[in-house]
Amino acid sequence: MAQAKYCLYCGHELSTKNIHGKDYQACPLDKCNFVHWDNPLPVVAAIVEHEGNVLLARNKAWTSKIFALITGFLEKGETPENAVLREVKEELGLNAELKSMIGVYPYIENNQVIIAYHVSASGDVRLGEEIAEVISIPPEKVRPWGFGAGPAVKDWLDRRKL
Ligand SMILES: [Zn+2]
Repeated sequence: MAQAKYCLYCGHELSTKNIHGKDYQACPLDKCNFVHWDNPLPVVAAIVEHEGNVLLARNKAWTSKIFALITGFLEKGETPENAVLREVKEELGLNAELKSMIGVYPYIENNQVIIAYHVSASGDVRLGEEIAEVISIPPEKVRPWGFGAGPAVKDWLDRRKL
C-alpha cells in the first residue's frame, strides 16, 4: 500500500508514532494530531460460475501467468453487492446474479478485507480493458491458492461437496 508522507491537515512531513503498541505515520505537531491509520480497505471478489464452469481472469498488470477471481474496490456510495456485480460486468462483460456471500477474508499482506461472493452469469464473455485473458474451468479442477481470495475458493468448493 502507498504510504502517506505528509499531513492531510497542515502539510507537515509525517513521522512514526507508536500508539497502543503499533507504529503509525502521524503528524508530529501537537496542534494537529493527524494519524494516518491506514485502515484495511474492503475488496469484493467474485467466483463467477458460467455454463457450469468457473471463470478465472488474468489482469494485464500482472507479469506472471496467474489467474484469479474477479475483484475490485467499492465505489463511493456503493454496496458490496452492487460492486461485485459491476466488476463482473466491467471485466467480463457479463450480467451476473448473486448466488451467495461466501465469507469475509482478511488479506493482511495487502491491508485489505476481501468480501467474497458466488455469482452466476450467462452470455458471451467480453474482456474489459484491465483483463488480459480468461480461462473457463470445471469447478472440480480449480485448485485454491493459499492467499488473498484463495481461501474463499476453498470454502466454496468444500460447500459444493456437501
Ligand atoms: Zn499536521
